[in-house]
Amino acid sequence: MKYRSELFIGGQWVGGTSTVPVRDPALDETIAEVAVAGEDECAQAVDAASSALGPWAARAPRERAEILRRAFELMTAEAGQIAELIVRENGKVLADARAEVTYAAEFFRWFAEEAVRVQGDYRLAPGGDKRIIVTHQPVGVSLLITPWNFPAAMATRKIGPALAAGCSVVLKPATETPLTALAIADVLWRAGVPDGVVNVVVAAPTAQRVREMLHDPRVTNLSFTGSTEVGRVLLHEAADQVVRTSMELGGNAPFLVLAGADVTAAVQGAMVAKLRNGGAACTAANRFYVHRSVAKEFTSALANAMAGLKVGPGLDPSSEIGSLVSTAERGKVAELVERATGAGARPVSGGSVPAGAGAFYPPTVLADVAPDADILDVEIFGPVAPIVTFDDEEEAVARANGTPFGLISYVYSGDLRRGLQVADRLESGMVAVNRGVLSDPAAPFGGYKQSGLGREGGFDGIHEFLETKYIAADV
Ligand code: NAD
Repeated sequence: MKYRSELFIGGQWVGGTSTVPVRDPALDETIAEVAVAGEDECAQAVDAASSALGPWAARAPRERAEILRRAFELMTAEAGQIAELIVRENGKVLADARAEVTYAAEFFRWFAEEAVRVQGDYRLAPGGDKRIIVTHQPVGVSLLITPWNFPAAMATRKIGPALAAGCSVVLKPATETPLTALAIADVLWRAGVPDGVVNVVVAAPTAQRVREMLHDPRVTNLSFTGSTEVGRVLLHEAADQVVRTSMELGGNAPFLVLAGADVTAAVQGAMVAKLRNGGAACTAANRFYVHRSVAKEFTSALANAMAGLKVGPGLDPSSEIGSLVSTAERGKVAELVERATGAGARPVSGGSVPAGAGAFYPPTVLADVAPDADILDVEIFGPVAPIVTFDDEEEAVARANGTPFGLISYVYSGDLRRGLQVADRLESGMVAVNRGVLSDPAAPFGGYKQSGLGREGGFDGIHEFLETKYIAADV
């Protein structure tokens, strides 16, 4: 396995103040030692981004677009190697890792196309006294912070629009999965991104290093993906310098199966919505509300399908569910299941930690979950499907909305019109109707309520990295 293990600052691969081990959670072994940035290296990364900003912002949009397009092509050509890195440091299965690389590379292609389509406005003011000219300019040096669950896609979903908009960036990847971020920096460098436009630092101690960067007046934008808990801390930190923020935070997705839904299709959708990435996705279906008329059939079909999956190391092509990112994460999932079963939930498949090495947890279906069970209030982030039966659709929608989170919801209905009516009433930034997956670089991704601020992807994504400027000109 070939990988980069240094910091990437100002177009150079450099050492840090220390190193941190990267673990393969499936094989329970250290696979790399990666350089860690201290205060000086983080300051150098901001220096480099700051010096590179002006010339990059001044490049023609078409030139920026062509560099991003080359990055898309290189990443696509090297998808196999990048997917292998993802499997090794994250634990997900190869099929999920390959799908992630394809999705991740698409952000470079999409934003290469968006770089040349930023629209402005020119019109006569209603009072007839002036011309209103509206234009957009890069927001500046952007700090990008990403989680471990999609180490490639969460990075490209930020780097793509930032570079398209003319911003320079400092990316701080999750400490668990830095190898993928460094590989992407390498791709961008070979694609022709000028020195200093993209910098990658694995920083420690994380909170302190990020605080320092957010208090550097040259950093004017923060784009964060991670938990709501950390997002809240960063919003406070960003307040001191009034740094602009985009927040992609945690979810607690409800999956509704209405009376009259096609149960076979709902089970197929549930398998993807629940198990993509082994359940470690902000979009993962976290709570299943199933109408009593189809609950028995849905539960037993889902349990059969989940119990039939092969759990094993991600690099083994026959594995269908990989390992969680660490044994600590696995411990959290196991505890949630124990508490739920202690409170009366019935495991229909899985439900206990297997013997042996590796952070594996079996696909688990819990039936008879009480509507007020704790497991319905938190992100499970593992392959566990708690099922609540309902009689009244109003009650199901109210329960689906009864959370501070609002990232994504799923609805299965035999009647598309009814499905769309329910979608309108669900308090989430995204709703999948009769589908188990909806993420698309061309669509706006983001949440209501405590699931976030702003949107990534789609036509909105580039605007997270642009300021709006209004120029008034005399008539
Ligand atoms: P996390 O919040 O623990 O960490 C995310 C990033 O923040 C990492 O790079 C981490 O090193 C850094 N970090 C942690 N503490 C920090 C601090 N005090 N100051 C500054 N940086 C800090 O999240 P995670 O466990 O890596 O990822 C899982 C979470 O991410 C879940 O809640 C999931 O829903 C969320 N997520 C959201 C989206 C989305 O688009 N909405 C996508 C993927 C993941």
